Amino acid sequence: MIPLSIPNLSGNEWKYIKDCLDTNWVSSVGNYVDAFENSVASFTGAKHAVATSNGTTALHLSLLLAGITQGDKVIVPNLTFVASVNAIRHAGAEPILVDVDESNWQMDLSLLEEYLADHSNSPGIKAIMPVHVLGNMLDIERLIRIAELHKMVLVEDSTESLGTTFKGKAAGTFGLLGCLSFNGNKIITTGGGGMIITSDSDLAREAKHLSTQAKADTLEYYHDQVGYNYRLVNLLAAMGVAQMEQLPGFLKRKNEVAEFYTHELSSIKGLSFMQNTPGVNPNNWLFTIRHSRAVELCDHLNAKGIQCRKLWVPMNRLPMFEDYTYLSNGDVAGRLYESCVSLPCSTSITDKQLNVILVKIRAFLNT
Ligand SMILES: *Cc1c(COP(=O)(O)O)cnc(C)c1O
Repeated sequence: MIPLSIPNLSGNEWKYIKDCLDTNWVSSVGNYVDAFENSVASFTGAKHAVATSNGTTALHLSLLLAGITQGDKVIVPNLTFVASVNAIRHAGAEPILVDVDESNWQMDLSLLEEYLADHSNSPGIKAIMPVHVLGNMLDIERLIRIAELHKMVLVEDSTESLGTTFKGKAAGTFGLLGCLSFNGNKIITTGGGGMIITSDSDLAREAKHLSTQAKADTLEYYHDQVGYNYRLVNLLAAMGVAQMEQLPGFLKRKNEVAEFYTHELSSIKGLSFMQNTPGVNPNNWLFTIRHSRAVELCDHLNAKGIQCRKLWVPMNRLPMFEDYTYLSNGDVAGRLYESCVSLPCSTSITDKQLNVILVKIRAFLNT
């Protein structure tokens, strides 16, 4: 069995977790939380980083910090993992679902521009949440210009793009706030965890405050707002520190795997890849191919013990989101969903396994 994308725990994970157990610092304060936050801040170049219980809570808190409340509207791509849109609903806002670009599979900015030109005086539209799907990014400079023109804030769902850069600047550092996830299948993992990154020190302080039940006094249980219990515990942050030490190596291996697949599969007729947006240096999080028989291929490989996965069912097709606005451009999101499959690309995958997968894909698609 060759898994799709599994954690790689070959570093100091045991050592640091053992240290937490030995010292009794297992819960929501401790050195590893600070060290993990500092490590992510310095890696991404963000001024501040605040660890959260997962990526979804990072998104929810970020939307609240960006001033999103009941009845506001937030622009988000239609092709994403459900958590992006759930977080918008958790904040009481409504999503405006935007179709994606045929080439880079990210939010279609021309479509968005057209829509906003026609809706320039819709006061409810407050924020744009780009999702850097599969570790790629859209033309973020163009999106920033759109957001400025229409006076909207950017909250980046960069949960899939730790390690990705646009013109050398890290994903998640372009918006007012950026959100990361350390779920089991992400490029680094703490089992479950997340982080908010921002260059705004007031927002960072407020993020920490709100995620800690808005406790306003160090001794007394005095709270000045309705807060949340969204902190990451020290035990998991310890794992995060060990994972961050290995991130450069993970990125290198992800890149090798992506290059192997791209090189070896590009001769197959009708097969195509997500195109990286000019300026983007991706983290190659989940390697995905497009082919009219991708769904059949996915079933075939899974039956042979090679774990593959289709993309997410587009948001407009989910029962709780089907009534929201969907700006469709021929439903690219739907067509990608029906024609894409992600291939095994764990950082621990061996060259031998890659060759086994390659032979099976060629045999299936060339017949
Ligand atoms: C993983 C992911 C999230 C949420 O992360 P969790 O840590 O699982 O809550 C949000 N958005 C996208 C696009 C993701 O892929």
